[in-house]
Amino acid sequence: MSEGANPFESLQSQIDEAAAHLEIGDDVIERLKHPERVLETNLTVELDDGSLGRFKAFRSQFNGDRGPYKGGIRYHPGVTRDEVKALSGWMVYKCATVGIPYGGGKGGIVIDPDEYSTAELERITRAFATELRPLIGEDRDIPAPDVNTGQREMNWIKDTYETLENTTEPGVITGKNIASGGSAGRVEATGRSTVIAAREAFDYLGKDLDGATVAVQGYGNAGWIAAKLIDEMGATVVAASDSSGGIYNPDGFDPVEAKAHKNETGSVVGYEESTEEITNADVLTMDVDLLIPAALENAIDGDLAEDVKADVISEAANGPLTPEADRVLEDSDVFVVPDILANAGGVTVSYFEWVQNRQRFYWSEEKVNEELEGIIVDAFDALVETYEEHDLSNPRTAAYVVAIQRVADAAEEAGTFP
Ligand code: GLU
Repeated sequence: MSEGANPFESLQSQIDEAAAHLEIGDDVIERLKHPERVLETNLTVELDDGSLGRFKAFRSQFNGDRGPYKGGIRYHPGVTRDEVKALSGWMVYKCATVGIPYGGGKGGIVIDPDEYSTAELERITRAFATELRPLIGEDRDIPAPDVNTGQREMNWIKDTYETLENTTEPGVITGKNIASGGSAGRVEATGRSTVIAAREAFDYLGKDLDGATVAVQGYGNAGWIAAKLIDEMGATVVAASDSSGGIYNPDGFDPVEAKAHKNETGSVVGYEESTEEITNADVLTMDVDLLIPAALENAIDGDLAEDVKADVISEAANGPLTPEADRVLEDSDVFVVPDILANAGGVTVSYFEWVQNRQRFYWSEEKVNEELEGIIVDAFDALVETYEEHDLSNPRTAAYVVAIQRVADAAEEAGTFP
């Protein structure tokens, strides 16, 4: 977790803000602010030198009223219990915002994966999958990739689960590679929805995306794909950063070449088309039409928000703005497409993957992208309708108003047991 605001408190304040516009009892709202359960475990794994490594890991199952818990697993040294709780809650409201039939969950291991060999990472992942086994399943809880995890880890978790359960159940996890039952378009999906959402926001505000300038903070899977796709839509990517620093060219650069440079050297820094080396904060406060934060939580706090000059923000990361930043940006009329809509492409295509796994019938990439487009555009329209109808002060609150109502409706229909 990055420094600053506690993400779990941020989630709760986002819920409170939306709840003020809903006629839902305080007792119900209170329930929707806390996870149903959190697994905390210590994984003991033999390292390559024969010693034992110990790794703290979590899985939070926040709410299952609308379907099985759903959400990724991240590997990061900054993972905390509260971070995982927040991320699992954001998954609940994300799935509800885009109307896919899931609750929310999230997991994480406190680890810097760069410090371990592939064989060690495999043993650590399989140890976590073994701990998760009683909790997960295609109708129970369905993990997926998140920060520093991808197809490789998902394939290991699937294999561990299926071996221990003596079954084939590819839908127990999503984000697998295609050979293991993954879906076409899943890797690109988070970046894709981020730019679809940005395009809809520009359209709504009457702004032209063609020729618009874009800054992207974070050049991992979500950030670099968003950069590539927004460039294809006619916008100009002028700045990008990763954990080592940032690059800038006022005339724009080729986002695909910048990614190739990062693959070769480990960072975008030093990319030849860059005319200036800049910091992460420079990227976030750049005078651009569109800013895409695509790294971790708390990238922009209240202080930094004072310097933000972008007109539109589309959040590829989860929780990149603190509640204080939201207040400041609201006052300066920055239109923020919230994470729970903008980056929902990832979980939406995870849903498609799960549907395909269950049907053992696979779709073309074209069909995946077409269905994704429809879901994100519909969700954006519903957000705008609520934003205007309730005269809300920011689009994030509108998304939560829509989402909380959907979760509360499901909870109410189900009644209380016991
Ligand atoms: N980790 C992604 C997210 O935060 C994807 C989750 C999923 O596919 O279940 O939305």
